[in-house]
Amino acid sequence: MYTHLSISDLRSKLACGELTCTQVVESYLSAIEQHSHLNAFVEVFADEARSKALELDKKINSPSLWGKCYGVVVGIKDVLCYKDHHVGASSAMLHNYTAIYNATAVQRLLDEDAIIIGNLNCDEFAMGSSNEHSVHGKVLNALDNNRVPGGSSGGSAVAVQANMCMVSLGSDTGGSVRQPADFCGIIGLKPSYGRISRYGLIAYASSFDQIGIFSQHVEDAALILETIAGEDEFDSTCSAEKVPAYTQHLSLNKPCKIAYFPQALEHPSLDPEIRTAIYCQLEKIKADGHTVTAVDFDYLDYIVPAYYILTTAEASSNLSRYDGIKFGYRTSKEVKDLNELYMLSRSEGFGKEVKRRIMLGTFVLSTGYYDAYYAKAQQVRRLIVDKTKKIFSNHDLLIMPTAPTTAFKFGEKSNDAVEMFLGDLYTVYANLAGCAGISIPLFQHSNGMPFGMQMMTDNTKEESLLAFSSYCLSNK
Ligand code: GLN
Repeated sequence: MYTHLSISDLRSKLACGELTCTQVVESYLSAIEQHSHLNAFVEVFADEARSKALELDKKINSPSLWGKCYGVVVGIKDVLCYKDHHVGASSAMLHNYTAIYNATAVQRLLDEDAIIIGNLNCDEFAMGSSNEHSVHGKVLNALDNNRVPGGSSGGSAVAVQANMCMVSLGSDTGGSVRQPADFCGIIGLKPSYGRISRYGLIAYASSFDQIGIFSQHVEDAALILETIAGEDEFDSTCSAEKVPAYTQHLSLNKPCKIAYFPQALEHPSLDPEIRTAIYCQLEKIKADGHTVTAVDFDYLDYIVPAYYILTTAEASSNLSRYDGIKFGYRTSKEVKDLNELYMLSRSEGFGKEVKRRIMLGTFVLSTGYYDAYYAKAQQVRRLIVDKTKKIFSNHDLLIMPTAPTTAFKFGEKSNDAVEMFLGDLYTVYANLAGCAGISIPLFQHSNGMPFGMQMMTDNTKEESLLAFSSYCLSNK
């Protein structure tokens, strides 16, 4: 009955007495139970969600007292701190860790009367593209249980896909919101770097990380962004720029200038059906009066290597705090000295993929290799940032596929790290450049799986991104 209700529909139903917050919570809890085989949730906060709903129902007859997210049922990725609740980055390293404060994004949702229903499975420390690297096991794509949901925010995507919550939060360091949204047939928004405070987000690569939003409706993503974005005294990298009322500006009022990279669309790894669909969409956009221009982009082959060098370097530093003493799992084995304690705790606490990245990151930062790898990758990032600035100085949006393929089968890429990394070809660009990106579900592949289109805008221009998404989806 409540399938894919939008937040504004929910509000009207609550206002006219057709629903109560308690009924809403119960319906999501039964969906969670019904879909427990998908393994999207690490923990469901059932009792707490019920009592919060009861509390909210006390003011159901006074809509003037309702917060912006009154009764909205939200799931959060297992990397976001929710005070007095377990947060573990889906890692054995943080198996018994309880958050001691709220992430700013979580706090802002709670302040506006949202109901947090549980935390969601992901790749360990948000490293991965398939959700196959979680201490809690893999998450299944609800549309085909043999296929991955994407990663790293696989649980967040599936929770929205299978209607186990209205919206969810994930994190996107190189595509972890847009790619799972693409694989699951929903919307995934990665705002520009610094748009949402990272306070209370477990770090993977701090100069790339950004909290993102999964939803079924553009207006819902707009409302959540409006609620959680904006300056925060606890995150100095958070933008002080005023947060627009995104929900009020969802209609396009002028023709847009769109750019695309022919090199990206002609890339040999791109599935031909995806290529055709994006070209057709560009034609459709042009026919509607927008300008579509091919822009040369010669750096495509460098973006995945630059991303993996820089993010693993940052990760090796960020994850050094998990040593069994300052933070995290401590070995129970007998040890002879401190070094052995560190070694055993980190070897037992971290999974394979995280170890791979810590080693790679430590290597690229080490004396003798720093200039060849880390410094070089920083230079590549600078070129990409400059090129992006230039593109957005005379274009409103940049269009790309979200991923080169639709959701692949479990095990298909898990033995080949490089192949898995190359699947991030289209998403890492936005994180290297710091710009905003979204994946919107527009297409259906002949293999039965959905796929989306990715759009990007300049830093802090989420308003046009959301308006253009709304236009594309309503002319689907
Ligand atoms: N798939 C990318 C990676 O493994 C992106 C991860 C992310 O955005 N958290 O690094």
